[in-house]
Amino acid sequence: MAKRQIRDKKTTRKMWDELLESRQMLRHWCYAGKVPASDLIYSMLKHFPAEWEQWKDRLGKLHEGTCEFCTRHFYGNVKAQRFCDDVCARNNWISRQEDFHGNKRARDTEYRERKREKKQAETGQAAVESGHEPEDPAR
Ligand SMILES: [Zn+2]
Repeated sequence: MAKRQIRDKKTTRKMWDELLESRQMLRHWCYAGKVPASDLIYSMLKHFPAEWEQWKDRLGKLHEGTCEFCTRHFYGNVKAQRFCDDVCARNNWISRQEDFHGNKRARDTEYRERKREKKQAETGQAAVESGHEPEDPAR
C-alpha cells in the first residue's frame, strides 16, 4: 500500500473543484485521474472538513472500513482494504512476525518439555521392567 499523500490546500481545492465540475462519482474521477481516493478524501478532511461533510454522501459509494490494526474508521482505495494506512499495515505485519516467532519459541519449549517427560517415562519404565510388577491397587 502506498503512503498516503496529503495534498496542499491549493492542490486540494483544484482537485475538488474539478471533481465537482465533472459530476462523476468520486471513485471514478480519482481512478481516471490516477489520484488515490483516500489522498483526496484525507486532503479534504484536512483543509475543507465542512465541505467534505456536506458532500461526502453525494459522491457515490466510497470504500470505507474499520482498520484491523488500530480499529479506526477509514476511507480506503479498494474494496478489500484492511488497514487505514501503510503504517498500520506494516505494524500488523510486524506483530504477526512477532506472533510467529513467539509461537515458535513456545513450540520449541514444549517440544523440549515433552522430550524430557518421554525420557523420564522410559527410564521409569525400565526400572519397573527390571524389578517386580507393582501390585494393582484395585485387587
Ligand atoms: Zn489503522
